[in-house]
Amino acid sequence: MPESDLKIATKAIHAGQYPDPATGAIMTPVYLTSTYIQSEPGVHQGYDYSRSGNPTRTALEANLAGLEGGRHGLAFASGLAAENTLLHLLESGDHIVSARDVYGGTYRLFDRVWKQFGVSYTTVDATNLEDIRNAIQPNTKMVWLESPSNPLLTCTDIEGTVDLARATNAKVVVDNTFATPILQRPLELGADVVLHSVTKYLGGHSDVIGGALVTNDDELHEQLRFLQNATGSVPGPMDCFLVLRGTKTLSVRMKQHCENAMIIAEHLVSHPEVERVYYPGLKDNPSHAVACKQMEGFGGMVSVELNGDFERNRRFACSTKLFALAESLGGVESLINHPASMTHASIPKEERERGGLRDSLMRLSVGIEDPRDLIDDLDQAIARSKTGNVHVHNADVTQVGPDCRLNRAC
Ligand SMILES: *Cc1c(COP(=O)(O)O)cnc(C)c1O
Repeated sequence: MPESDLKIATKAIHAGQYPDPATGAIMTPVYLTSTYIQSEPGVHQGYDYSRSGNPTRTALEANLAGLEGGRHGLAFASGLAAENTLLHLLESGDHIVSARDVYGGTYRLFDRVWKQFGVSYTTVDATNLEDIRNAIQPNTKMVWLESPSNPLLTCTDIEGTVDLARATNAKVVVDNTFATPILQRPLELGADVVLHSVTKYLGGHSDVIGGALVTNDDELHEQLRFLQNATGSVPGPMDCFLVLRGTKTLSVRMKQHCENAMIIAEHLVSHPEVERVYYPGLKDNPSHAVACKQMEGFGGMVSVELNGDFERNRRFACSTKLFALAESLGGVESLINHPASMTHASIPKEERERGGLRDSLMRLSVGIEDPRDLIDDLDQAIARSKTGNVHVHNADVTQVGPDCRLNRAC
């Protein structure tokens, strides 16, 4: 059976994976080598130098391409390295239309790095196709989406955006980090490039930084492969191995993340101390219909605002015991994050609020622990945050930082 016909849980384990031809080792070896012998000058077995290619990286790239249903995958040293390489396709004078609610580092890359080189951008409410249409200019070369978005978890109609972009010469880029290919495959919806921070769900164990680009477009792939080698932000073979170990369990992990997140979102909605819950799986969420149309599950991220002010929400973030206060997401363990002072601090306050991100919003990366323990933890933290009797968060790490790590992040 051709690999492309396999179901996604099977692809997660088998796409691009072959036993080591030298030994039969079932797992792809970690090829810790920088160079490869040549039998004659210029004659080799497909690999000449590990920036240009490494067999462990090849196995990962094929695995990621298989998962996204794409012909070509490329792995990078980080999600931002993947983004930066992709942006090298642009020239001075080109323009990007970007969803307003994107990862803070993506915004920073547009605003603080590429703008200086004459690449301009416009941010839009990407839940509104009219807004996207109105922002497209004759020089727009990319429409950049993140769906579900970070941290408001809004969804963009990817097919609708592709239709708009087809009428122009803009490529549609989808950051699929939050959904993962288990829940959403943008290439099948017509997107040109899928982007990942593999640091998150694909790696899945909070032990590696990595990024990826996947495309079906042969010409685009050749350009990106050239840039991957020419600009050099490649991952090492050990990192590739760790991500491959992660993707094998992606399908089962995502099922549990989705199940736990739904249980927690519903619990929070019914909690008298909660003002607002953001989760596309909730029926009254504004993105619910779009999520149902293009996703096979609603993901493991839930954002929440408690009643009361910023201070109260801050106390909440300081009071959880199982939910660790930390940046990042997508690992098996649950995390809590305060975007305004942590992941999204690089976006100016007015720009954050224009996009609906309030300073009181807390983002939960719901792990795969038993959801009953997670609910107990949230309930005790909500109760504590009301009284002001704050548990010293992560007391065991206080010797290397202040009592509440949020203080440092502020
Ligand atoms: C983390 C993240 C990135 C950046 O990836 P790194 O691996 O941290 O460089 C990009 N997009 C999204 C949605 C992210 O969560």
